[in-house]
Amino acid sequence: MPQPSTIKSAYHKALLASHPDKRSFSSAIPPVDVDIALLKEAYTTLSNVSSRVAYDNILRNARVISLEDFEEAEEGVWTHACRCGGTYRIIEEDMDAGRHLVGCESCSEVVWVGYELVTDEHRATNG
Ligand SMILES: [Zn+2]
Repeated sequence: MPQPSTIKSAYHKALLASHPDKRSFSSAIPPVDVDIALLKEAYTTLSNVSSRVAYDNILRNARVISLEDFEEAEEGVWTHACRCGGTYRIIEEDMDAGRHLVGCESCSEVVWVGYELVTDEHRATNG
């Protein structure tokens, strides 16, 4: 786990690199196309110890459910019944973005959906 100071300096570096005003008089920093909102969110999560611990706890306590145990409700949408009667829903875009954590729509349960992205390369080598 990186130290808070490391996170902070990396954040500032990234922020600086993506800031159009700062970029002009700091030509040593190459322009980077960064989603500032995402950067801030990542920084907030990582730099705040309690939210980092909470996130770690979610990861640790989340039940792992294989995508194979989900039902394809419609094209690109998979659902799984929560024990509360609610539904976990994961869509193709979530998987493309590498998201694994899915919250129940009715309660506060979170599950970690197990899947591997199958690329055309894999298909070709595995037959
Ligand atoms: Zn639930």
